[in-house]
Amino acid sequence: MSFSFDITAEVSAGNGAAARTGRITTPHGLINTPAFIPVGTKATVKSVLPESMKELGAQALLANAYHLYLQPGPEIVDEAGGLSTFMNWPGPTFTDSGGFQVLSLGVGFKKVLAMDSTTFRSDDVIAKNKDRLAHVDDEGVTFKSHLDGSMHRFTPEISMQVQHKIGADIIFAFDECTTLHNTRQYQEGAIDRTYAWAIRCLDEHKRQSDARGDHPYQALFGVLQGAQYEDLRRKAATDLGAMNSSGISFDGFGIGGALDKQALGTIVGWVNQELPREKPKHLLGIGAPEDLFVGVENGIDTFDCVLASRIARTSALYTMNGRYNVSNATFRRQFIPIDESCDCYTCTHYTRAYLHHLFRGKEILAATLATIHNERFIVRLVDQMRESITSGDFKELKAQFLGRYAIRPVSSGDTA
Ligand SMILES: [Zn+2]
Repeated sequence: MSFSFDITAEVSAGNGAAARTGRITTPHGLINTPAFIPVGTKATVKSVLPESMKELGAQALLANAYHLYLQPGPEIVDEAGGLSTFMNWPGPTFTDSGGFQVLSLGVGFKKVLAMDSTTFRSDDVIAKNKDRLAHVDDEGVTFKSHLDGSMHRFTPEISMQVQHKIGADIIFAFDECTTLHNTRQYQEGAIDRTYAWAIRCLDEHKRQSDARGDHPYQALFGVLQGAQYEDLRRKAATDLGAMNSSGISFDGFGIGGALDKQALGTIVGWVNQELPREKPKHLLGIGAPEDLFVGVENGIDTFDCVLASRIARTSALYTMNGRYNVSNATFRRQFIPIDESCDCYTCTHYTRAYLHHLFRGKEILAATLATIHNERFIVRLVDQMRESITSGDFKELKAQFLGRYAIRPVSSGDTA
């Protein structure tokens, strides 16, 4: 067996939820959970060598099937020997299904899903000055490439074929990713479609696994939608948790789609009450420090998010005292590390003044050093959560961290 998940410790957090530690075994190695999985969208964490990612403690990386499908194409990754060999990352890898990317093209919204449900609701809304680039039907999604405007189509079958060729250890079912702007009626339809697509993903995954039996085992995670609605989230969890087709069931689950920041813990709590306890749970696209605590205390095992590296390139840095922008004039003469308690390569070798200078001078090294720090900060924070569950100090760690950490306004947006 080349994929397994073992729970090693569990701490009740009330409401039936439990924070837990565990170990995911994949053909490319182990992941001790809870773990933060940095994102390398196009089979690279922008500006950082794989060796540096290893050194800063990343246990696995997640790439995007949509981007690799468009370029270089899944056949190239397959011929190279799979994602891990292609990108020179010997450890475990994930790919998402492409559902989020192709569908977010549909509405032209931010690259990070909105996390505020208090805004207006409409199924026809698209962002200002954007064309609708994707259309959903019951069979799949037709979309226009953001690279050259060419037309493409993703179906559950195509997503599975693409992800098998890319060859990551953990892959995700193709789902219809909705936004908080969609109406309740639309969310109901999306749940039904995601259910039907999940069965088709299992069937195609079985076909691909059989046809490519000489390749390392790939674990398939089902993806739960349902936005902020309790009945829809519970239904999605019950249905996908029990789903079995072509003699197989999901190896784990991704909680995806529209997640209202205020209700994040509640939503994760609902689905974890319905999902099989013994399978790993991944929270898709969530990575802000305060949200990671909420996820872990509600039983999430792995997270991925592009935020840490994306904001790093806009000079926004995490510290124990909150997030700040090192380009600001205040930092020009600060000859101290970004965060004195951080053990990363950047903090042990460079000062705030130097990073300030690099960003002001538009030097490429700025992105590298800032990304190393931000990724280390988040990876280490989740590592500390894991250790605190084992030692029984999770609540103390959370109180201590959030007591100091404050979200500071950042001049550049999260969508850069
Ligand atoms: Zn650092």
